Amino acid sequence: MPNMRANTSIRVRLTIWYGGGLALIMLLFATALYVVMARALEDQIDRSLEEAAVAASQSLEEHRFGPFLLLDDLAQAFPELALLDKFFQIFGPQGQVTLQSANIKTRNIPLSQTALQSSLQGRAVFETVRFRDEIPIRLLSYPIRHGQTLVNILRVGTSLQPEKEMLARLVFVLLIGSPLAVVVSVLGGWFLAGRALRPVDDITLTAQRIAGGDLTQRIETTSKDEIGRLASTFNNMIGRLEASIRQIRQFSADASHELRTPLTITKGETELALRKPRSPEVYREALESNLEEIDRMSRIVEELMFLSRADLGEVHVASDPVQLDTLVQEIQMQAMVLGKEQQIATTLGQVEPLRVSGDEWRLRELILNVVDNAVKYSLPRGTVELGLTQDRGMARVTVQDHGIGMTPEEQRLVFDRFYRTDAARAHAQKGTGLGLSICKWIAEAHHGTIEVASTFGQGSRFTISLPLLPATSVS
Ligand code: ADP
Repeated sequence: MPNMRANTSIRVRLTIWYGGGLALIMLLFATALYVVMARALEDQIDRSLEEAAVAASQSLEEHRFGPFLLLDDLAQAFPELALLDKFFQIFGPQGQVTLQSANIKTRNIPLSQTALQSSLQGRAVFETVRFRDEIPIRLLSYPIRHGQTLVNILRVGTSLQPEKEMLARLVFVLLIGSPLAVVVSVLGGWFLAGRALRPVDDITLTAQRIAGGDLTQRIETTSKDEIGRLASTFNNMIGRLEASIRQIRQFSADASHELRTPLTITKGETELALRKPRSPEVYREALESNLEEIDRMSRIVEELMFLSRADLGEVHVASDPVQLDTLVQEIQMQAMVLGKEQQIATTLGQVEPLRVSGDEWRLRELILNVVDNAVKYSLPRGTVELGLTQDRGMARVTVQDHGIGMTPEEQRLVFDRFYRTDAARAHAQKGTGLGLSICKWIAEAHHGTIEVASTFGQGSRFTISLPLLPATSVS
């Protein structure tokens, strides 16, 4: 049975532990009870022997019996002798029996050497004697002295039978009661463990259904206990898994859709050009148009590859000091070139000398992407303003345009992969819908954020926030 532990259910293990623990406790308890009871009974017997001895010795002294006395006189003198459960013996100072009560068994129980010695020294002594196969007897030898001389030794004895019987009864009760208590508790424990673990079975069942492919399954939970928390954590996890799988499916659908459009265009134009012999100019035009679409496809593929490498954590981001103001100024000049055709001017607003830690190349890509969008979605002869300020330990790059703008709903979605607004599609054919996803990734990889505030038809303002390097002021 190599894997016994793994195969045994928690319920069985719990019950075994519980039953075993209880049995052990019962055993300890029973043993302790037995020992305490035996002690108490012995004490009680000794005390009663002592009381009887004291009373008898007092009577003896009062009556001043000499060494020769009659049993009847004695019996009359103190009724303790008539007690059934005790017997008396009176020994002379040398240990010879002078008198003994009638209820003593015929057997002669001589005075032991220890008892005699103790009596001579004036000490009472308890002894237990056992004759073969018989019930043991408890004896008290009690010296009766006159001044310093030992006159008699009074011995009181009693059978230990009642004690033995009592203890035997106790053992009987414990032997029957303890296993019964253990059995009842184990059954109760088994039932309770079953009840407590039922939700775990439910979770397992649901998990099996989910593993079968149905990600819409959830575990019903109402309790707030450990199992309830496990169930809601599990539900949360499945929820996130479902969302990411949906995202991945959406992503592949969008990616194929975005790649199909330029492919269809390329195919259509090539087929058209080949339908009949044409002039070199027409071929050239067709090839140029194809090249444009191929460029677009390569961009999509490149951006997709970047994002998937980023998802896998394979994109390295350096952490060098980057002079943001210089970067912003350079990008402004590039933007002027980008907007030349449409006469879109990019101006610099307030630009503070600020430094951040990061990857200059990636940060350039980030800001340029946003500025490129601002130019792309501006109207002809529009303006774009670039600014760099600091606020609460963050460098803020702002890119303001007065172009097509976005609705609030669109603003929430622009950072999603492949998302393009209708206005954007109508305004600029070029575009992959991946640029802002990449921007968001770069900003977050630098522990920063990118946000948008926009009014549809009026323009947008993108704000990139990046943590400033300490001692940022530069001469
Ligand atoms: P694209 O390649 O389409 O520009 P992006 O990811 O860069 O892809 O942008 C996603 C979408 O966000 C754009 O298609 C456009 O709808 C919207 N967008 C981005 N920047 C602006 C802007 N400055 N003004 C209006 N819409 C914008």
